[in-house]
Amino acid sequence: MLFPSRLPALLLVTCYWLLSIGGAHASRPNIIVVLCDDLGYSDVGFNGATDIRTPELDQLAQNGVVFPAAYVAHPFCGPSRMSMMAGRYSHKFGGPFNLPNPGLGIAEYNAKGIPESETLMSTTLQRAGYFTGAVGKWHMGINPEFHPNVRGFDDYYGFLGGGHRYFPEQYRPAYQRMLKTGNLPINEYFVPLQHNGVEVRETEYITDALSREAARFVDEAATKDQPFFLYVAYNAPHSPLEATEADLALYADIEDKKRRTYAAMVHAVDRGVGRLVTALKRNDAFDNTLIVFLSDNGGKLSLGATNYPLSMGKGSVSEGGHRVPMFFHWPQQLKGGQPFPHPVTSLDLYPTFASIGDAPVPATQVLDGTDLSSALQDGSNPRAGETIFALRHRAGFSDASARRDDWKIRREGQSDWMLFNIAEDISETTDMRDRHPELVRDMVTEMEQWSRSHTQPEWFYVWEEGQQWQADNMPRFDETFSTSAADALEVPSIRYQVTRNRPPGSGR
Ligand code: CA
Repeated sequence: MLFPSRLPALLLVTCYWLLSIGGAHASRPNIIVVLCDDLGYSDVGFNGATDIRTPELDQLAQNGVVFPAAYVAHPFCGPSRMSMMAGRYSHKFGGPFNLPNPGLGIAEYNAKGIPESETLMSTTLQRAGYFTGAVGKWHMGINPEFHPNVRGFDDYYGFLGGGHRYFPEQYRPAYQRMLKTGNLPINEYFVPLQHNGVEVRETEYITDALSREAARFVDEAATKDQPFFLYVAYNAPHSPLEATEADLALYADIEDKKRRTYAAMVHAVDRGVGRLVTALKRNDAFDNTLIVFLSDNGGKLSLGATNYPLSMGKGSVSEGGHRVPMFFHWPQQLKGGQPFPHPVTSLDLYPTFASIGDAPVPATQVLDGTDLSSALQDGSNPRAGETIFALRHRAGFSDASARRDDWKIRREGQSDWMLFNIAEDISETTDMRDRHPELVRDMVTEMEQWSRSHTQPEWFYVWEEGQQWQADNMPRFDETFSTSAADALEVPSIRYQVTRNRPPGSGR
């Protein structure tokens, strides 16, 4: 379906195999992942935004393959990123929670990070001869053993924590004041950026600085006799909501201040992607570079995002929490113009990159995803009959959902398990469990079996969260995966308010 006709498809499939098995490293594609932070499902033009203008992204999406049913492995930052980079659900290596901000002073958790036993996709590509770079937010550990430079990246420019302030002329003086007063620990949002472990004097608005460094890496990579892998992890449009006056002026017509600022932040990302494209073109690398664009989780509704027409947002196991905007762009191999309708997950990126990059995955790294490369050739469902999970622990219980083909089960807050035909009911409005109780039981049983591969968390985001986990004897999976009404969850008396996502343009 991705090729103009069957005949060229066959020819291109042949070419593809030459790439894959010929070992001709010079012709292997470059790979770029552009990851946004908390970007809403419909906050880009190619996914329905009308008030936010993203012409650079839209052009790539139009000439590439859009995935309307792309999921990430967790509905918030750290676990989503760790899972994508390791190719495995982070619940399996102790990472279902965010690492804490060192500013919170939980010293023992500051020594934690993505386990060294995990071989990240960067390391696998690096070992296969790729020149590798990372730019932006790391959020996988601040100690030396977790540093990007020892986790597969030849070059790293950015900040190691889970977020950052955007204006150097504001955060730098604040950081220096903290240093002078000896008021440690220091909030990671204020720590100066670094290049390969060396502090740098950044002067630009952070999103523009990261775009500049991504383009710089592409220029540098062009001088090497290697393909490159570049991970561009923007912290935009994650809080704090901070945009330049020039970008805000572009959205003066949006009345809601949060939405206006958020739109301006997304606009800066789009401008940055344009700079990246320009860098690829000037180095004659555009055609044989796979660009993957996605968000690490759903948009945060209280901070100006919208995931319309999905339900809920960041943090939720409803679609709005973990279904994200995503496209692939690769002129030499992918014909654009048609969406890829089947469900995929960010876990699929690792095996897909290893496949197209001719990079052997170590036997110790048992990946949870699926290589998408052949499905992208023939349009088949790469995960037919396979399930994509989302599991978020809370205080004394867990929110859980699972998608298999057209169906999704979900249990959130005090609800019992529900069933949705997610292919027809993207907003999760009609519970169909009474019509298909056997399907619900089957999918819950499968998810319970999956949960047995999990380990206890190695860290918690805040100290109280860990204390609560112990006190509640979590994870209490027998309760989570019960389908008996008699075993209804005894959870705190909360019932989540179903939050409506605003249609595109309604913030004006
Ligand atoms: Ca995030």
